Amino acid sequence: MPYDLIVIGSGPGGYVCAIRAAQLGMKVAVVEKDKTFGGTCLNVGCIPSKALLHASELFDEAGEKFGKMGIKVGAPKLDLAAMMKFKDEGVDGNVKGVAFLLKKNKIDSFQGSGRIAAPGKVEVKAAAGETQTLDTKSIVIATGSDVARLRGVEIDEKRIVSSTGALVLEKVPERLLVVGAGVIGLELGSVWRRLGAEVVVVEFLDRILPGTDLDVAKNFQRILQKQGLSFKLSSKVTGVDTSGKKLKATVEPAAGGAAETIEGDVVLVAIGRVPFTEGLGLEDVGVQKDNRGRVVIDAHFATNVPGIYAIGDVIAGPMLAHKAEDEGVAVAEIIAGQAGHVNYDVIPNVVYTFPELATVGKSEEELKEAGITYNVGKFPFTANGRAKVNLQTEGFVKILADAKSDRVLGVHILGPDAGNMIAEAAVAMEFGAAAEDIARTCHAHPTLTEAVKEAALAAGKRSIHM
Ligand SMILES: Cc1cc2nc3c(=O)[nH]c(=O)nc-3n(C[C@H](O)[C@H](O)[C@H](O)COP(=O)(O)OP(=O)(O)OC[C@H]3O[C@@H](n4cnc5c(N)ncnc54)[C@H](O)[C@@H]3O)c2cc1C
Repeated sequence: MPYDLIVIGSGPGGYVCAIRAAQLGMKVAVVEKDKTFGGTCLNVGCIPSKALLHASELFDEAGEKFGKMGIKVGAPKLDLAAMMKFKDEGVDGNVKGVAFLLKKNKIDSFQGSGRIAAPGKVEVKAAAGETQTLDTKSIVIATGSDVARLRGVEIDEKRIVSSTGALVLEKVPERLLVVGAGVIGLELGSVWRRLGAEVVVVEFLDRILPGTDLDVAKNFQRILQKQGLSFKLSSKVTGVDTSGKKLKATVEPAAGGAAETIEGDVVLVAIGRVPFTEGLGLEDVGVQKDNRGRVVIDAHFATNVPGIYAIGDVIAGPMLAHKAEDEGVAVAEIIAGQAGHVNYDVIPNVVYTFPELATVGKSEEELKEAGITYNVGKFPFTANGRAKVNLQTEGFVKILADAKSDRVLGVHILGPDAGNMIAEAAVAMEFGAAAEDIARTCHAHPTLTEAVKEAALAAGKRSIHM
């Protein structure tokens, strides 16, 4: 009997889609080419990077802050192998969790590379070489993304690494050169800085975190610099000489000009990710891609070929696990005849450094460009009781509210636990809240969330603790 749905790829987009489809009564199969389920996110992305961020943050705190709180432990010593084991165990637990959920929902899984032989036909080629063809009514492409390469810089995952190699370094580099000041570069740069590396970040643009509210990004850069990361903006790495004991990177001004050499022990190439569709057979079945290699879909995640859909990193939009998950749910519901939907205006984005940077909605630059007038409500963590007593006062909450309606258009939190706190803003925005709605909501004391309430009050120029 044919499947109702075959999902190709078991990342957060694919496995969530499969589970939702099974809940809706479909007969579902998942095809995954790697040995473990969970995709980039669980194996070499969100989960291992957060494990190292967590561990290195505590290592840093033990050295820097414990003494101030009366905890005398002496200088902490790093056992990198044990830290890596801690990270690997975390990954293992998570990928096994996906295997458990697939089984629980009676989803068949096939290990091997999936190719769309024709609409309704998926060919699975196992690592050993044998091939089988599965029949299905619908196909969801959830094949995710791969590391973007830099011309002239060959990644060997030993000395010149992508994020994948940067998660498994066997020793702390004396100097780490990070190419790209995006989320991944800043997170992994922070990890290795905390563990003792000197970290230099080279960025093509004249700012870090392109797309993020500029005022927030500038403040964030200042905080990271105080932690010891150094930045070379408006610069590009054009090559890396690997012949000597030290790597020698050629760095030129982005606008052109005299090159300089920066030495390092490890170079991390973190210039972004590209959609992954290799071997899927899209050209043969005529599935359209755009000029950046992304699968083109309509408002219902349908490609131009009937019965074939796509979600996650392989389509346009922010390359984020929760965006892929929500698309997975939406497309399963659409295939089942329901009204699945993703609100792209309210997708939070978090950088898990310390402090964290979490944003949802529009930046000031975006609002200006759209000609929308807005009020800014800002509240610093220096004025928040809980942040003060915890010695974590860097950063602020910034709320952008429509000048006419007071509706919340964007929330930017630079501060401790911002990634958790942004959920409140996302819920408020989903419900079309005004800044006043947040301001009039009782927030527990003493919590960091009071800074969100105060920023909402500040948007109406009536902050209490400022
Ligand atoms: C270092 C790093 C840190 C990150 N941190 C975060 C974070 O903190 N938060 C966040 O939201 N996002 C984070 N991301 C991004 C996140 O990992 C991706 O957005 C997310 O994994 C996309 O999910 P997906 O399901 O679209 O694809 P993927 O997770 O990439 O999964 C695709 C799967 O498809 C499989 N596949 C591909 N082709 C085939 C084929 N032909 N046949 C069978 N299987 C195939 C692949 O093996 C893979 O398992 C991070 C990424 C990296 C690299």
